[in-house]
Amino acid sequence: MSRLSKVLIVLLISLGLAYYWLLVNAGPGGIAARQIDLPALRAEADSLSGKRPTGITFAVLATRSIPSASLAAGTGLRQVTEGIVAWQIATPKGGIVVDTGLSPADAEAMGYSDYDPAAMRKVDGWMGAAEQILFTHAHIDHVGRFLDHPEFDAISPKALVTSGMLGGINALWRENGSHIAKTRNLAPIEAVAPGVVVIQTPGHTPASQMVYVRLASGREYLLTGDTASLAANFENGTPRSRLVADILAPEDRPAVIGWVKGLQSMRQRYPALVILPSHDADWLSANTEKLGLNSASADQGKR
Ligand SMILES: [Zn+2]
Repeated sequence: MSRLSKVLIVLLISLGLAYYWLLVNAGPGGIAARQIDLPALRAEADSLSGKRPTGITFAVLATRSIPSASLAAGTGLRQVTEGIVAWQIATPKGGIVVDTGLSPADAEAMGYSDYDPAAMRKVDGWMGAAEQILFTHAHIDHVGRFLDHPEFDAISPKALVTSGMLGGINALWRENGSHIAKTRNLAPIEAVAPGVVVIQTPGHTPASQMVYVRLASGREYLLTGDTASLAANFENGTPRSRLVADILAPEDRPAVIGWVKGLQSMRQRYPALVILPSHDADWLSANTEKLGLNSASADQGKR
């Protein structure tokens, strides 16, 4: 074998190993599923009296194409659309917003070229009308538009910010972040409105949360935040790639693996529960009707 062939073989093996480690490996293995107790969530959701929510609408503020494996290890290089998604839970008192997306400048800085200003105005209006604003975690693509809201001082008292989350917001170094006057720490599962329960799920960030919603119709949803960015995370029980989770946007990988395995087993046990990933724009648009969701962009006209 020539020297050149040897060098090429070593190079190919190294590339293969790097690809496997950075984009395929879903380990470490042997991590137990972190169980989310659905009957306990239901009981907590019923602990506050009043009318339950009537629906959930999502708005996609920006999109970009990424390889599926980056956000769901081992799912290959097929391009999927990663979306910045904000959610509105319809309640009798003006709605509850979960995650607010970000502003155009931050979207551009993150590599999102396709920003929808009509969706941004819609989400700004949601925050203005809302009774509460919740966040799954304090990353810029989830809290950014809240911090940049044109009437920040009027809307900020409606935001439920835990002390851990405030630490994350302060790390973003936004002027308005320093104006947040109060925090409220929650129990591991705690109802914040009739039919709406916040669940502490540290892992993606130390103060990450999920939000469980039980509608008046009885239909149930679980908003996972970035613990499951794509449906593939809970369908396959796989976390983000090591490229993203260990290097680009570090997280507590063993904890996240425990949660995605927990979501996977929940999905098998309770097939009627709708588990909602945070960034899966393709999956959301393909399943909007089937999941009983409303899309804000449907009434904004074609983007
Ligand atoms: Zn995110």
